Amino acid sequence: MTAPIFRFAPSPNGELHLGHALSAMLNDDLAKMAGGRLLLRIEDIDTTRCTPQFEAGIYENLRWLGFVWEEPVRRQSAHFGAYREVLAELVRQELVYPAFMSRGEIRAFAEAREGDGTGWPRDPDGAPLYPGLDKTLGSQERQRRIDEGRAFAWRLDMAAALARIGRKLSWQEYQDDGLAEVATVEADAAAWGDVILARREIPTSYHLSVVTDDALQGVTHVVRGRDLYHATAVQRLLQELLGLPAPLYRHHRLILGEDGRKLSKSMKSTGLTALRTAGATPQEIRRLVGL
Ligand code: GLU
Repeated sequence: MTAPIFRFAPSPNGELHLGHALSAMLNDDLAKMAGGRLLLRIEDIDTTRCTPQFEAGIYENLRWLGFVWEEPVRRQSAHFGAYREVLAELVRQELVYPAFMSRGEIRAFAEAREGDGTGWPRDPDGAPLYPGLDKTLGSQERQRRIDEGRAFAWRLDMAAALARIGRKLSWQEYQDDGLAEVATVEADAAAWGDVILARREIPTSYHLSVVTDDALQGVTHVVRGRDLYHATAVQRLLQELLGLPAPLYRHHRLILGEDGRKLSKSMKSTGLTALRTAGATPQEIRRLVGL
């Protein structure tokens, strides 16, 4: 049997904080426990928000924490070609369509329905589902709009995708901080509606690149924060559509701030650089995150 493969996959769009430390340390602990490998992946597809400084900060803080990863590190921004091919496969399968409504237009559409009592569904993150009005545009009209330079995103035709699979999907979720017990979780991808899989300027999205990379890198164990629990449904669907293997999942508790909310990348008191320069030790960080 080949060794299990774990990965820690931060985005360099801010400072690492205690939440990242928990994720990194848990991946490290579990990889050691399972006799597995540990990869670091830099998820920097958002070239407007990710910076070389934040990326350097990730390496520096992880090294300080004692996190050891394999080289070379996969940086997603260097692999747009690979994502473009996966997107092309979904275009070929007619499971994605160019969607032209802006975020403001979607919000206005949903608010109008909510205002007149009709109601409009929201995804697990609270954003209104895409109305999908342009799903039925003819190919000529689509091309005309694209040639005109209209902004658009490639969205998954969720109804068509679910029909293509034709059965319920699920994933295996570890139930504790160890690797003892797994449970089957039903994947409700429909709750997300027609999710964005790529943009005009960036040939990928969070979901598309994560699924592509987890498969390409042979990741067997995805250990990440609870905030991505529901996103797993979309990722399982994409894995099935693309014929990719399903890793095992563990969505760990989040570290909350004093206000009871999820930590944000701008919070000074919980940033790893701030804690390190204030004299904290990696052992203290372990204790702070409850490991
Ligand atoms: N890059 C994502 C983040 O920093 C994590 C993605 C994942 O673990 O699937 O939130």
